[in-house]
Amino acid sequence: MSKSLQAIRGMNDILPEQTPLWRYFEGTVARLLDNYGYKQIRMPIVEFTELFKRSIGEVTDIVEKEMYTFEDRNGDSLTLRPEGTAACVRAVLEHGITGGGQVQKLWYIGPMFRHERPQKGRYRQFHQIGLEVFNLDGPDIDAELIIMTWRLWGELGIRDAVKLELNSLGTSESRGRYREALVEYLSAHHDKLDEDSQRRLKTNPLRVLDTKNADTQAVLVDAPKMADYLDDESRAHFEGLKARLDAVGIPYVLNPKLVRGLDYYSKTVFEWVTDKLGAQGTVCAGGRYDGLVEQMGGKPTTGVGFAMGIERLVLMLETLEQIPEEISRQVDVYLCAFGEEAELAGLALAERVRDQLPNLRLQVNAGAGSFKSQFKKADKSGALYALILGDDEMAQQAVGFKPLRGQGEQQSIAWDALAAHLATCVVQG
Ligand code: ATP
Ligand code: MG
Repeated sequence: MSKSLQAIRGMNDILPEQTPLWRYFEGTVARLLDNYGYKQIRMPIVEFTELFKRSIGEVTDIVEKEMYTFEDRNGDSLTLRPEGTAACVRAVLEHGITGGGQVQKLWYIGPMFRHERPQKGRYRQFHQIGLEVFNLDGPDIDAELIIMTWRLWGELGIRDAVKLELNSLGTSESRGRYREALVEYLSAHHDKLDEDSQRRLKTNPLRVLDTKNADTQAVLVDAPKMADYLDDESRAHFEGLKARLDAVGIPYVLNPKLVRGLDYYSKTVFEWVTDKLGAQGTVCAGGRYDGLVEQMGGKPTTGVGFAMGIERLVLMLETLEQIPEEISRQVDVYLCAFGEEAELAGLALAERVRDQLPNLRLQVNAGAGSFKSQFKKADKSGALYALILGDDEMAQQAVGFKPLRGQGEQQSIAWDALAAHLATCVVQG
């Protein structure tokens, strides 16, 4: 195929054989969020570039080097969203739905875009399910977000493979004091830092804590600790969160180096990490961002949220072979008809059955074909049963009912009794 007809590097097609697992994952999360009382919001994929600069911060990896930014025909600078929080905050402000302290518990799902180096678990178009809560400032809601994800890992069968890392970044004041102490310490060891960290020291010093460079990590061993700079309020908040996780029995590890990539976090930050995916180990990450709404021009409004990467979680389900059996079968029943008269009768019969069993996955053979070829297609479809409509069956106003996957002889079922019979033998999702 000519080069111009290929997908863009790092932007993937999700093929029909993969979508059942995606839909299972997305459906499981959506049901859970419904049950906990969260409401879905849908924002545009493109926003003014300014939105991301103002919310995410000019000196973050995302804004510095990962955004897909372009000028539209009006000369406006637009950006494909790299994450969802900024647009969600923009939307609640624009529609005034967090005004007067109104609580909002929102979630969204969709593609995000970052110009990163594509590799396993890291793509340029990827998908997130994200969640944001506004106007609840206690540790109880931070705990709820974590408890909910814990339940999700349980339902998906991957709980043993993920670990919760927690930290508190304090208020912007206490973080400011910490930042000063950190800068002073790191400046005294400037020559031992890697180049990237030297640059970050000037632009976004907390991110030096994130470094993967071994020499810089060695310097960090004796660096000041955020925990020693936490203000009383943040400390109490963090204790409150930990007490709730303990009460529910959710294990966690404290990671003082967890700072998250974005500028806007305060107090709680957390990540769910796994060692099953190689280098791209974070499957869900979030935290509290009490200053963000005000920074974006709203009245003081607290916020807390997280986002999970769907590709990474789907990869985990595949890696750990946690793929429920029922999603691999997409057809329950396959109807084969031989001859024009049978085909017409089959169509009408199929519609009658669908009226009575709206959840039945009934596939009607298309493209006619010999007995052998239709039967082959029925088998390949994965269906549990084939329905056969030929001259004999037409004469009796019946269908042949043939189990495809196990024991059992073919039997004849009257048209009028077919739906009732199918209802007893096909478990409907
Ligand atoms: P990372 O450290 O892996 O780059 P991040 O801190 O940039 O992650 P967030 O902005 O917190 O990621 O996004 C939340 C989640 O979205 C991540 O934990 C991850 O699961 C997923 N994610 C982020 N970037 C990508 C990507 N380029 N491809 C696939 N998934 C991603
Ligand atoms: Mg990143």
